[in-house]
This record gives sequence, C-alpha cells and structure tokens, in this order.
Amino acid sequence: MSTVIIGAGIGGLTAALSLHQAGCRAVRVFERVADLRPLGVGINLLPHAVRELMELGLTDRITELGVAPGTLAYFNRYGQRIWSEPRGLQAGYRWPQLSVYRGRLQWMLLEAVRDRLGPEAVLTGHQLVAVEHGADSDVACFDTDAGVVRVEADVVVGADGIHSALRHQHHPHEGRPRWNGVTLWRGTARVPAYLDGTTMIMAGDDQQKFVVYPVGPPDAAGHARVNFIAEQRGDARDGANADWNRAVDPAPVVELFRDWRFDWLDVPAVIAAAEEILEYPMVDRDPIDQWTFGRSTLLGDAAHPMYPNGSNGASQAILDARTLALHLATAPTVEQALARYEAERRTATTALVHSNRRHGPERVMVLAHERAPRGFGDIGEVFSPGELADIAASYKRAAGFHPDALNNRPSLTPPSAGR
Ligand SMILES: Cc1cc2nc3c(=O)[nH]c(=O)nc-3n(C[C@H](O)[C@H](O)[C@H](O)COP(=O)(O)OP(=O)(O)OC[C@H]3O[C@@H](n4cnc5c(N)ncnc54)[C@H](O)[C@@H]3O)c2cc1C
Repeated sequence: MSTVIIGAGIGGLTAALSLHQAGCRAVRVFERVADLRPLGVGINLLPHAVRELMELGLTDRITELGVAPGTLAYFNRYGQRIWSEPRGLQAGYRWPQLSVYRGRLQWMLLEAVRDRLGPEAVLTGHQLVAVEHGADSDVACFDTDAGVVRVEADVVVGADGIHSALRHQHHPHEGRPRWNGVTLWRGTARVPAYLDGTTMIMAGDDQQKFVVYPVGPPDAAGHARVNFIAEQRGDARDGANADWNRAVDPAPVVELFRDWRFDWLDVPAVIAAAEEILEYPMVDRDPIDQWTFGRSTLLGDAAHPMYPNGSNGASQAILDARTLALHLATAPTVEQALARYEAERRTATTALVHSNRRHGPERVMVLAHERAPRGFGDIGEVFSPGELADIAASYKRAAGFHPDALNNRPSLTPPSAGR
C-alpha cells in the first residue's frame, strides 16, 4: 500500500512513523516549505500523546527534549489559587506530560522519519494544489520549482494544517479561520524559577490570561527557561492573519499586564524578559461533517483546528496519526480503514473543538471571575464541593486522557508491528 502524506508538521511526521511501524513501506511526506526549520515556541504533550510517541520507540528522543510539569495550577488575575492538580506520573498516569519546544519536537520526528524510512522519505518544496480521486487510487498534484508533479497513491493524508489545501478542495466555501477576538502573544524567557520550579500555571479569566510553564530545568543560579502565552480579548474581526511567527514589540504587552505582580510571580517581568514575542489570533474552524473523499482523508489541524485551551492541538494530531495507521494496518480494505478512522476521530475531536470554545478545563477561571470578580477569601465560598474536580475530570474524559481510561486502554500499535 502506498501512502502520500501532505505536510511535515507534527501530525504528518507521526503518521509516517506510525505507518512505517505498521509495516507500510511506501510512505512519503510532501512538504510545501523548501527549507524546513524548527519553528515555534513551547507546546505541551499530554500523557496520551507521550504514550503514542513512546510506543513508536521514541522514548529516549522525547524525554531529552523537554521537562515534565508536576502540577497544573489555575489562579485568578490577582494571583489567588483556584485549583491545582498533579500532572503526568504524579497524577497516576503511566506516561509523563512533557513541555517541549515545538520546533525541536518537529525536528526530532523529521530525523526519526529520515532514519527509519530513508533520506528520500520527506520531499520539501512540494505544495499540494489538488487531489484527483480515482477508483483504486488518488493522485496528489504538487506545485514545485520544476513545475507540477503528480504522485499516485493508494491513500492520501492531508496533514497540511489550518489552511489545508485538501480541506479547501472539498469545503470550498468555508472561508477563513474563525477568530474569537482573543490575541495571543507567545514567547520564551529565562527567568527566576517560580513556585516549585515544575508547575504550569494559568492566571486570569476570559478577558485576559497568562499561561507559563518551564521548558527547561532550573540552572545553578535558580533561573529556568519558560514558555509563556499572554492573552487579551478585543473586538473580533477576521482570522486573516492566522499565521505563526509574526514577531511584535513586547512593550505594549508588558503594559497590558503591568498590575499582574503576584508575590510568587512577576508577570510583566517575564514578558519583558522574552527574546522575541510572537502574535497570533485565537482561531479555529467549525467542525466539518466529512473528512474522507475517495482515498484521501484529513488529519491534525487540517481536520480539526481548535483553540489552544486545554493544550491539546499537537496531542490530538498524534492520536489521529496513530489511529489512522492502526486502521490502515488492520481493516480489510482501505475504504473501511478510512471510514473507521473518521468515525472514531471526527466524533472525538468535534466534541473537543466545542469544549475548547467553552474554555475547556480553563472554565474554572471564567467561573471564578463571574462569581468573585474582585477576588475571594476562601475558594470554598466560590465553588460547591466537588465542582472543580468534576470540571477537570470531564475535560480529561472528553480529550481521551483520563488516567483510568488511558492507563487501561489497549495500545494503538497494530499487532502486525510485532509488539
Ligand atoms: C510554523 C509553525 C509554528 C507553530 N508554533 C506553535 C507553537 O509555538 N505553539 C503551539 O502550541 N502550536 C504551534 N503550532 C501549531 C501546532 O504545531 C499544531 O497545532 C499541531 O502540532 C498540529 O500539527 P499539524 O501537523 O496538524 O499541523 P501543522 O503543525 O500546522 O503542520 C502542517 C504542515 O503542513 C505544511 N503545509 C501546509 N500547506 C501545505 C500544502 N498545500 N502542501 C504541502 N505542505 C503544506 C506546513 O508547512 C506545515 O509544515 C505551529 C505551527 C506551525 C506551522
């Protein structure tokens, strides 16, 4: 079976590795960018995604990429703690959560693909323009410096991100990504370690928010490299600029957060210490009712771009890739494999897109602000007993990483891979 994967992002590269593990040898990845570079700042890999990368035999490579947050804590805009919970191994998972640089993760996956599938497995400078559907195969058409290149395959996987050409071909009237009016500023900085040095924190409400987590261990001087996301809600216009890596002046962002000086974290100082700040609108797309046409399907952000609430974008792309490879390796026909993949993953990710629009697990911060806009003396007066724990657990169930479910579900590695 031959497979063409469009896009060498985290989703596309994980799909290539998963298909190779499942015994498929004719797998190639076609990437638009001529010269791939390790772009992006921090990203969280939740335990369900770490499990998949470890079961792909990448344990050593991913553990050296990042650090494991031991706790996730939510605060209001005055730095008062609303809820905190252990994460990863400390929460009873068999796999850790890892905070990593997106670019380093993508690069590690790229090297693993080249090591295992061969140096020619990833072709850069190939921009998908269309897919032609045939009875027994599809043909992917690429724009290249040498003209149009046509590649026939049994399966075509569109892992080409939020502006997916394959998705656009079948949903031409969708328009631009939907912006909810929130602007995100992302950056990394070396700052004094805060709290216990391994805590990921989120502070604020649905108007303004600050998220920070370490992406490296504290050094001898007690400083650590952190990734942060500062958010501010404004007037929603359109999502025309839904592109990563647009650098902006940090000064206005520092000013927006000037009062956020907690006794355990100086938020404006963290923002001011960033080497670079990247601006990005919080966008997603309405879920669509069909991913698969002919022998082509969608995966990752091409299939279900979602708000980053809940830190699930990359993790869900990895789950898609693993599920697709499992069904392609085990279903009697390609058509049945694609139908099973879509039925499973479209249902799950549609629910998640909607949940993230309602703030996902960060709803605790929104509710705390609605109920106690000037802060609180005791959080027990703001939430009923068990309410905070219920919100956290229900999101984990929806996203497929409740510890009971994840620890006990069978592996997605196909039996043919000789586990
Ligand atoms: C440059 C970049 C930086 C990012 N930085 C961050 C970050 O700092 N933090 C964070 O949380 N998330 C970041 N993201 C998003 C995050 O990586 C994704 O949400 C998540 O990993 C899902 O990945 P994906 O593989 O589905 O899509 P993507 O990561 O978007 O990958 C899609 C790939 O397809 C390629 N492509 C697009 N169109 C075509 C085409 N027509 N033909 C061929 N190839 C095509 C793109 O160049 C890209 O390599 C970034 C994405 C990109 C592209």
